[in-house]
Amino acid sequence: MNAYVQTVLGDLQRRYPHEPEYLQAAQEMLTSLSPVFDQHPEYEQAGLLERFVEPERVIIFRVPWVDDSGRPRVNRAYRVQFSSAIGPYKGGLRFHPSVNLSILKFLGLEQTLKNSLTGLPIGGGKGGSDFDPKGKSEQEVMRFCQSLMNELYRHIGADTDVPAGDIGVGAREVGYMYGQYKRLTGLYDGTYTGKGLTFGGSVGRTQATGYGLLYLVDAMLKDNGLDIAGMNTVISGAGNVAIYAAEKAAQLGARVIAMSDSDGYITDSEGVDLALIKQLKLVERARLSAYPERAGRGRYVAGGRVWDTPCELALPCATQNELHLEDAKTLVSNGVKAVAEGANMPTTLEATHYLQQQGVLFASGKAANAGGVSVSALEMSQNAMRLSWDFEQVDSQLQAIMRRIYDTISQTASQYAKPGDYVAGANIAGFLKVAQAMMAQGVV
Ligand code: NDP
Repeated sequence: MNAYVQTVLGDLQRRYPHEPEYLQAAQEMLTSLSPVFDQHPEYEQAGLLERFVEPERVIIFRVPWVDDSGRPRVNRAYRVQFSSAIGPYKGGLRFHPSVNLSILKFLGLEQTLKNSLTGLPIGGGKGGSDFDPKGKSEQEVMRFCQSLMNELYRHIGADTDVPAGDIGVGAREVGYMYGQYKRLTGLYDGTYTGKGLTFGGSVGRTQATGYGLLYLVDAMLKDNGLDIAGMNTVISGAGNVAIYAAEKAAQLGARVIAMSDSDGYITDSEGVDLALIKQLKLVERARLSAYPERAGRGRYVAGGRVWDTPCELALPCATQNELHLEDAKTLVSNGVKAVAEGANMPTTLEATHYLQQQGVLFASGKAANAGGVSVSALEMSQNAMRLSWDFEQVDSQLQAIMRRIYDTISQTASQYAKPGDYVAGANIAGFLKVAQAMMAQGVV
């Protein structure tokens, strides 16, 4: 490894030993960047990496709210404004009990490189709270979102920081937060993306991450002489990304035979009934365990590993570190051809290395799930122009962006690392654009 990169990584490990997810993301990125620093000694002289790995700003605040029984509750919320080198901070908010600074810093770092890869002028940020929307009433969710915005509104704006959804934050939560933002600021602008279609949202945003994932997978498979049609496909998660990944996979001729939620997974050798999964997860907010009885077919496994299901294509779309080395070994022994990350950092470092060593095509989330933020940036453009594009206009741009991302990571891998190393390709291509902007802007 390049000595400068090693020094910066060592410093990070000493300073943040209590931030394992952030260190994992930083290690994955930094180890790929060695060839860049070998070729650009001026980056070291400019202290570029030390500046890059430290978020520009972190805001931490309390969110007091009152539950339905009249009891005051307090959660902690964060906004990590990671990098504004190439545009306003942009990245989602996550509501999940596991949320902490380490997770949000890792997500902010990933987001910065991902946003760079889209080719659009957006910087990187991420935020969220340890609030758990599960089991809360509509009124409780609304009061929480409004209280969170009572603080967050002063730190965000259409040209400064544009939040969106993530785990636990969908159209409902974005609506409540945007409504409160508008009330507090008097502004009707593009400060949030993922808004409802009646108040500035973009058609195609709901589907964008899942669809974009499959556009990239399709390009990657074709470039390697493979065809997605007929491939048995396993998808983890049953949320926004997973559901629309399943939908596009089926449209492209793949057979989605397993999906999961945080309690267990379902298998259905005929191909999952996606209308039923949407009804269960998006409408009823129910558990996947109800699937076999309601579908009249398939099998539910409580707990367990969805990756035990033999498949050619595996798409982790739930959360970080959900595909471990043992899972990777199972997938390989069952003949998996490609793995592409719909979620952020779902594959551990060991599992990633193993899959790559075994010749499995592997696309990391920075590239593979960039479709969501790409359409978010298109939503920002529509808001700024006071226009609404139709689905075909948005979807054709999404397809072009994902194709361009694939070409970029593939070419960058060949130039700096080795052909087919899409992990290195994504890290290097994403980083180079940010690095060039930072160099041009001086030490700020
Ligand atoms: P959702 O909240 O809509 O869905 C998440 C799904 O993953 C749910 O099915 C949930 O199960 C499951 N899940 C969550 N946490 C765990 C866990 N600890 N163990 C097992 N399963 C879990 O989130 P999204 O679909 O929006 O996001 C999924 C991933 O994709 C995240 O990593 C996110 O950062 C990433 N991503 C999302 C984008 C977007 O546009 N939404 C854009 C780019 C990346 P249950 O139903 O039981 O809660």
